Amino acid sequence: MNQKFHTTNLENLSFLITGGAGFIGSHIAEYLLANGSKRVRVLDNLSTGLKSNIELLQKYSAFEFLEGDIRNTDQCAFACEGIDYVSHQAALGSVPRSIKDPVSTNDVNVGGFVKMATAAANAKISGFVYASSSSVYGDEASLPKIESRTGNCLSPYAVSKKANELYASVFGALGDMPLTGFRYFNVFGPRQNPKGQYAAVIPLFVDAIMRGEAASINGDGEQTRDFTYVENAVQVNVLAMLTKNSSALNKVYNVAVGKNFSVNFLYQSILKHFGKNIQPVYQGPRAGDVRNSLADISLAEDLLDYKPTVNFADGLVRTIEYFQHQPQ
Ligand code: NAD
Repeated sequence: MNQKFHTTNLENLSFLITGGAGFIGSHIAEYLLANGSKRVRVLDNLSTGLKSNIELLQKYSAFEFLEGDIRNTDQCAFACEGIDYVSHQAALGSVPRSIKDPVSTNDVNVGGFVKMATAAANAKISGFVYASSSSVYGDEASLPKIESRTGNCLSPYAVSKKANELYASVFGALGDMPLTGFRYFNVFGPRQNPKGQYAAVIPLFVDAIMRGEAASINGDGEQTRDFTYVENAVQVNVLAMLTKNSSALNKVYNVAVGKNFSVNFLYQSILKHFGKNIQPVYQGPRAGDVRNSLADISLAEDLLDYKPTVNFADGLVRTIEYFQHQPQ
């Protein structure tokens, strides 16, 4: 990632990225390291994150890895020592996982959030940004989604992210530390894990089609998503941590591109890239999924100066090329 999203000099600033062994967190950590931060510490228990993501950050002398758990109060406090900004990405993702195991989703996503935010406030850090999710829109049908209009949650995962936003709002009002959240809309890109039962749709499709196999599509495939290349998520994290605009803090932002595409279109785009013709296997719709998703990104544009730099088509090509170069 050569694009620069900040003007602040990072050489005196220390960052903690929770979940930095994961997909989005490792890209945030890499950006901060490549741009000369004083220290970038990752706290991750490697439950869904990958050692290989940590290995690729080891080349930077400012990088520190703490293998630990956000459910452990002492480890959260230790991780926040000497830190200026926290980007909290650690969580158990996936709507189906949360339906199958709501207890773990709640323990990590809600309990872990409260422990991390409390540790960060106790350490008097300057700012805390965190990953929420577009799933908090739930059954709100109107498009595009605007931050102030949410519906009923459709999964324990959505509840957990909604709880993060509620805690952030209360902690922000009660204390000195600003907490700023991001409702990510289907983030995709290199390093997103294609393996396992809870893998996201883009790495799953690319992995299957690359191997010449049909991928499964939930429902009729006409559901739409505002697919967001990971560089855009990195951008908003950097902008919100370093913003000098105090009215931009203590808010929750949609993080997306502002265009939506159907899952069928996504599947066909990947087929086209490989010059293949493989029929997908359609299966029943998935519980807890929203039908359509499209973000209004004007709040982040106006207050954070967020401008998505990579669109769906270019992001998809970059992602496919990454997976093509991975050992099978
Ligand atoms: P990911 O699974 O790749 O990364 C999450 C990381 O958190 C992993 O490295 C995992 O090991 C770590 N983690 C999990 N439980 C932990 C614990 N108890 N203690 C310490 N570390 C723990 O997922 P991602 O796609 O990079 O998602 C990052 C964040 O963004 C998550 O909060 C997720 O809910 C949110 N989000 C992601 C998307 C998306 O499209 N990828 C969409 C909406 C929201």
